[in-house]
Amino acid sequence: MDGDILAAELLEKIDIMSLDSDEMAEFIESTGEKSFRAKQLYGWIHKKLAYSFDEMTNLPKEFREKLNNNCTIDSTSIADVQESADGTRKYLMQLSDGNAVESVLMKYKHGNSVCISTQAGCRMGCKFCASTTGGLDRNLKPSEMLGQIYRIQRATGERVSNVILMGIGEPLDNYANVVKFIKMLSDRNGLNISQRNITLSTCGLVEKLISLVDEHLGITIAISLHAPDDALRRSIMPVACKYSIHDIIKACKYYIEKTGRRITFEYSLMEGVNDRPEHAEKLAGLLYSLNCHVNLIPLNPVKGRMGNRPAGIDIQHFKSMLEKKHINVTIRREMGSDIDAACGQLRNKNKGG
Ligand code: SAH
Repeated sequence: MDGDILAAELLEKIDIMSLDSDEMAEFIESTGEKSFRAKQLYGWIHKKLAYSFDEMTNLPKEFREKLNNNCTIDSTSIADVQESADGTRKYLMQLSDGNAVESVLMKYKHGNSVCISTQAGCRMGCKFCASTTGGLDRNLKPSEMLGQIYRIQRATGERVSNVILMGIGEPLDNYANVVKFIKMLSDRNGLNISQRNITLSTCGLVEKLISLVDEHLGITIAISLHAPDDALRRSIMPVACKYSIHDIIKACKYYIEKTGRRITFEYSLMEGVNDRPEHAEKLAGLLYSLNCHVNLIPLNPVKGRMGNRPAGIDIQHFKSMLEKKHINVTIRREMGSDIDAACGQLRNKNKGG
């Protein structure tokens, strides 16, 4: 048994798409190839978005064979697509170990946005969310996050200009891989997506949020708040038992102070739970002095999960109460509501859930 595990480990191939520019240079050096091959190979993978070494026709054949024998490159593939009337496409992405995650392509006037998953499953347990029902299977590797974007860009032939980390999983629960992924995505030798066009959504893991500030990334942070006080937040999001709103706001202030960038707060509105005038009042009190923006998300009800969507008039009223207190607020534009729009639904269906 132990022998088998050892053999499997020895046979494990190098996940070449997860190597950043420096690691690629080291890898090429270890193969004895000329150093300029590092940039060539990195460009094939991250600029030309090659799925296979055989496409890399300017690399010597023997080198390509060596790569084929020792490395993997195509760890993500499109298993299913649902297209909405508004052009939004939801992809089921197959990973090499049989797991699957979801990615969504949204077309806006200002460009194409892709929403990606950062974990297979999630362990945060938010009561209204479809992604967390089976718990966490595993973290995604940088290659599996990049792969979601690369596959979509190649399939559509259109450039992806914005990336949002709002699919399945809690990005800060997969911290090292996510930070590496962001750096690679914005690498000049890769897709070169500006960090300003990358948004990371988190339920607010405070220590990780503070570490992230110190990474000096120029990304936008979105905090899933969903409640204006700790007691209510705890009844919706178990993670609120560990981190208070006070500590989250403190970390946000640190972020704003260090980066000069404003924070987005996401607030999923649930009928009768967090959508009452007193909640709007409290929320305004909490945020009035912060350089922030509130994004109201009318709940996408998931069968068997908590919550219903409030009536349109209540959503509007909530918004105008915040506006009266001079809080920047928008209601999230609905995209793809005729397909299984809430994250995790397509994956659950695929798993037979
Ligand atoms: N783990 C990250 C990313 C989650 S998905 C986070 O917590 O931020 C992005 C946003 O959609 C989060 O604010 C999440 O709470 C919200 N969300 C998840 N399921 C939803 C649903 N069914 N309806 C409305 N919002 C939902």
